[in-house]
Amino acid sequence: MPRWSMMVLCTISTFVGLLAGCGEAKPPQVSSEPKPAAERPAEPPASQAAAAQSASPEAAKTAASAEPAKTETQEPAAMSEKRDLPKTDDEWRKILTKEQFYVTRQKGTERPWTGAYWNNHKAGTYRCVCCGEELFTSDSKFDSGCGWPSYTKPTKDAAVKETEDRSHGMVRTEVTCTKCGAHLGHVFDDGPEPTGLRYCINSASLTFEERAKKPAEPKEEKDAKK
Ligand SMILES: [Zn+2]
Repeated sequence: MPRWSMMVLCTISTFVGLLAGCGEAKPPQVSSEPKPAAERPAEPPASQAAAAQSASPEAAKTAASAEPAKTETQEPAAMSEKRDLPKTDDEWRKILTKEQFYVTRQKGTERPWTGAYWNNHKAGTYRCVCCGEELFTSDSKFDSGCGWPSYTKPTKDAAVKETEDRSHGMVRTEVTCTKCGAHLGHVFDDGPEPTGLRYCINSASLTFEERAKKPAEPKEEKDAKK
């Protein structure tokens, strides 16, 4: 192969590599900058919209023929669930009280012994005030004496995310809601058995759903039969 053709090949491959590199780097840059996105109109240009419209029926057809009916109903539900969650602070403010917004979206802490649940001894489920995800139950709640509702463990490990927090001159482990990122509180290793952990959670991050007293009903039926 002549020398000049090698150089041409090298130049072309470098150029193609650069193009590919640019193509990969561009989308995250655009999405991470809120300003251009906000300035741009919400609706895509007509050409893009037309392309999307022509592409989507085909995609739907192939999905319908390839997948069983079950996935068709599950996927839109999961997507709409994600779409329903607020994204901006203004959207969160609309559905949260000032205190709830301060704690969950601005990593605030409610004053001890002021929240709704530190002294709640009813049986039931504690959910994320932002997204409704089940986080804790009364089964793992204990009286820590710290003024915040405290639990030895979440309902599922995957329900909460734990991250090192070095704010306020301390090294703590922050606990957030995996689903929506809400700040919940902190976890400490001075809890009781069985885990030795104390999930110290703000009441403002939670809603409480009292457990229906199902066990009482069968008893009554049995008594009636006797
Ligand atoms: Zn949540």
